[in-house]
Parts: sequence; structure tokens; C-alpha cells
Amino acid sequence: MGRKVTRDDITKWKELRDKGYTYEKIGKETEWGPETVRKYIGGEEKPPEKERKEPEADLELQARAFSEFEEGKNPVDLVREGICPIDVAKELGEKYVELKNMSRPNLEIIEARLGNASHLVRCALGHAKTEINCPVCHKWTHLTLQKINGRQRWACGNCGKIPF
Ligand SMILES: [Zn+2]
Repeated sequence: MGRKVTRDDITKWKELRDKGYTYEKIGKETEWGPETVRKYIGGEEKPPEKERKEPEADLELQARAFSEFEEGKNPVDLVREGICPIDVAKELGEKYVELKNMSRPNLEIIEARLGNASHLVRCALGHAKTEINCPVCHKWTHLTLQKINGRQRWACGNCGKIPF
């Protein structure tokens, strides 16, 4: 705060920018805010050749962007804070949403598997006449075959509920 940007600062920033550094990284390296760096050297020249040829963001930038997204920020924030150019921000935002959706567990599959597991275990316990402690009525009892909603199902011999 209060420091004055010198010609040397700007020269140094341009050098780093030519190497493909983001404004954020240049700021960190030279102890200036990314906004200040961008104000002086942003927009006056095309981004370095390397950056235009490979819109793919480097690993460090991807990690940074995904952390920001996790904290609730969006691609516009990344551009505003000088973290990356708009094309890269947009691409990273789309990738993030895509991957998030992919890693979300498929609830339908889990539901079906739970249903199967319940059926399997109740049949086994019922047939074996294993004594169970019903989680619904908390009584020691056996599972018995009962007609529930028109179907024969193994249910608590005491309260008649399907225990799981
Ligand atoms: Zn019960």
C-alpha cells in the first residue's frame, strides 16, 4: 500500500508475463497485488504465444481454480482476481461442474443395492429362525413371513414392521 510502481517494476512484470505467468503469480513473485500488475501490463499486448497455443491450464492453476470453486467462487471471480484469462476460467468452470457430477454417487444404484441387501439378510435370518432385536420395537423376536401390501415379506414377529 502506498508504494509507487516504477518503470523497473513494469519491466519485470512484462518479463514474467512473457514467460507465461498469471497476474496472480507475477504479483506474488514481485510482492504486488495481481490487480495492480494487470492494471499496468494487462490488455496492452497479446498474451504470450505459449498461452494462446495451449488454452489448457497448467496443474498449479487447475488446483488453484478448483479450490476457489470449492469455496463457492465462480469463473468470473477468477478473471476478476487476475488468476487466469477468461477462456481458461470458462473452461475450468465447465470441467469442474462435469467432474463434480461424475463423482456424485448414483442414488438410484445405492437405493437398489440397499433394497437387495435388506431382502438378502431378512430372508437369511428368517429362514434360520435367528433371534433378532428389532430396531423398530426394540424387542427380541424372530422375523416371520407376513403379508405386507399384498406381498409376502419377512417382518418383525412382534411389531410387524420391516426392520430394515
Ligand atoms: Zn418389531
